[in-house]
Amino acid sequence: MHILVTNDDGVTAPGLLALAQAMREFGKVSIVAPDHDWSGGGHVKTLNRPLRVRRVKLADGSDALTSDGAPSDCVALALMGLLKDKVDLVVSGVNTAANLGHDVTYSGTVTAVMEGIIWGVPGVAVSLDGRSSSSADLDYSLAVKVAADVVRTVLANELPQGTFLNVNVPYVPTLEFKGIRLTRQGLRVYRDRLDKRTDPRGNDYYWIGGDRPTGVPHEGTDVGALFEGFASVTPLSLDLTAFHAMPLLEEWLWNGVADTANELIPVLAAMPVGEAALH
Ligand code: MN
Repeated sequence: MHILVTNDDGVTAPGLLALAQAMREFGKVSIVAPDHDWSGGGHVKTLNRPLRVRRVKLADGSDALTSDGAPSDCVALALMGLLKDKVDLVVSGVNTAANLGHDVTYSGTVTAVMEGIIWGVPGVAVSLDGRSSSSADLDYSLAVKVAADVVRTVLANELPQGTFLNVNVPYVPTLEFKGIRLTRQGLRVYRDRLDKRTDPRGNDYYWIGGDRPTGVPHEGTDVGALFEGFASVTPLSLDLTAFHAMPLLEEWLWNGVADTANELIPVLAAMPVGEAALH
């Protein structure tokens, strides 16, 4: 078993080291992570500049590779030949803040695992509901225990092709932890505010600030599980098709002709998943 460990908080983040140490239980661990914080960086493919890779040592003496690309670039580099050995699983984290609901499209932690899916490698993203922007003073022990439990379960079974897991762990003492719940994506409530300022040369600039997002703790969702003290495990796929909208859209007239949407369905179903179909 060869596990690629990455993150979006940067190669020096304590959550990355804690996760890498926990993954050694399952086999060989390779670490390829970005050289700075890419939180909120989304699914990136860097095409307009070269990517540089350096060898670094982590705090426990572990060897790691770091790149000036995004987390998804790091995974692409690793799977396209930077690592000589075939990778069986991508594990990303431990992120310092939860990635719930719509967060998954912003999250470098989650999109790193999405990149693995593009290359046909399953993965698990792990985030801690740390409620702090400082990663150094967080206790990662429960998060890595949950991560190990989830990876053990994934290895004992087989994730359906194109499926990856988004795991979120509440920031509670281990004794108060209630267990793992299988969930769906919930609803985040963003409280972003645009801060407009003026630089010393008189030019306006903008900073997206505001308060941390909250969420709607619906039963059965990732937000709801964390709210009740459970860890959430949400299976995700890269297919963002709004299947619930298909019946409605099938009734619309497209260029004056009905039922065009019906003809799209077999085309979508025939597309291969997780086999670098986009390349
Ligand atoms: Mn992050």
